[in-house]
Amino acid sequence: MAFQRSSLLLRKAISSSRTAAALYSPYSSLLYSSSNYSDWTRSYSSSESSDTEGTTVTAAGYHVNNAPSYMRGAVFWEPNKPLTFEDFQMPRPKANEILIKTKACGVCHSDLHVIKGELPFASPCVVGHEITGEVVEHGKLTDSKIIQSLPIGSQVIGAFIMPCGSCFYCSKGQDDLCESFFEYNRAKGTLYDGETRLFLRNGGKPVYMYSMGGLAEYCVVPAHGLAVLPNTLPYTESAILGCAVFTAYGAMAHAAQVRPGDAIAVIGVGGVGSSCLQIARAFGASEIIAVDVQDEKLQKAKLFGATHAINALKEDAVTKIKEITGGRGVDIAVEALGRAQTFSQCVQSVRDGGKAVMIGLTLSGAKGEVDINHLVRRQIKVIGSYGGRARQDLPKLIKLAERGIFNLEAAVSRKCKFEDVGEAYKDLDKGNIVGRAVVEIM
Ligand SMILES: [Zn+2]
Ligand SMILES: [Zn+2]
Repeated sequence: MAFQRSSLLLRKAISSSRTAAALYSPYSSLLYSSSNYSDWTRSYSSSESSDTEGTTVTAAGYHVNNAPSYMRGAVFWEPNKPLTFEDFQMPRPKANEILIKTKACGVCHSDLHVIKGELPFASPCVVGHEITGEVVEHGKLTDSKIIQSLPIGSQVIGAFIMPCGSCFYCSKGQDDLCESFFEYNRAKGTLYDGETRLFLRNGGKPVYMYSMGGLAEYCVVPAHGLAVLPNTLPYTESAILGCAVFTAYGAMAHAAQVRPGDAIAVIGVGGVGSSCLQIARAFGASEIIAVDVQDEKLQKAKLFGATHAINALKEDAVTKIKEITGGRGVDIAVEALGRAQTFSQCVQSVRDGGKAVMIGLTLSGAKGEVDINHLVRRQIKVIGSYGGRARQDLPKLIKLAERGIFNLEAAVSRKCKFEDVGEAYKDLDKGNIVGRAVVEIM
């Protein structure tokens, strides 16, 4: 019964997406247009070739007779080559997984690290890991409690760390350390049975998934990585709850354990750093110091709760932070850039007994320096933090956003169309995105 209903709704969802699909052309267009990539004109899937004898696939025939059906996704092939749009077989969820019609996906530095080859990842793959969407199908044999809590048609938000719900760490509530997520998704680009859900339409070549592979019209997400998005919150802006805000919340709630009255410095106030400012404000921090090298970002930081702004090109950040805090340093400093120099600055900015929280990813294998005696004698805590705990944190983040305590509208500085996603990553790379860009998919 439930299965029949979900299949029906899936068909409905697919047919309603035809209109959107009809707006796109051509299927395998290049996402980057830079001359550096001008030699990159080949389409890996043969979606431009004939579907049936001599008939080129047209937009109107994108989803053929409702089933079998296809979708479009943006594929990363190899470092520093443009993403290409490819046709995929409609992905199928397995037990306790959910097929989502993707509405929006955020543009994050982690994807950029993969695209630039700085973080090794299985390829070809679909990047994008900060999504909102609509539930269109449950995998067969999915737990009835999951079906009840995330029924067909629900609006949902997906966290980039998708906990399996049953490993050693998940059973302790530390979803952010989920063994299945790291062993399968981060290490191999698959879901937790060791297989991807993405296959090219022509030839069936498997394509790996960075988290859920959010830069596609549909994606499969393990159910524990999802939470219901109330209809008072918009699809586009709410996408950032799944990585930028999720990461900021994890850093402030679990790693730093911020208390009201704490003095906090955030080094690097882009998408994640500026979310840290807002979460610090929500938790009652007294001094909130934003550090960056761009005046535009520092200006905007004040909207997010920063009480002080330091341009590290014009002033010495550590000296200035000490000055603001009566010579002691902050209770908590957060590094949101992922550079060796700012790693050291972060450690030097905290008071005795303070916490230096690192959330910026960097080149694979990069090292940071710490003054050992200072760390020992002054009881400095250097803490790594990656994402948040989906099952416990997502519902709290959603409440903060719903009540306006976290301002989503201000945090999203750019909205772009799916076909412009390549441009968005290029602008992110140049530091031209003040805040967060979100791709609207359907
Ligand atoms: Zn991210
Ligand atoms: Zn787990």
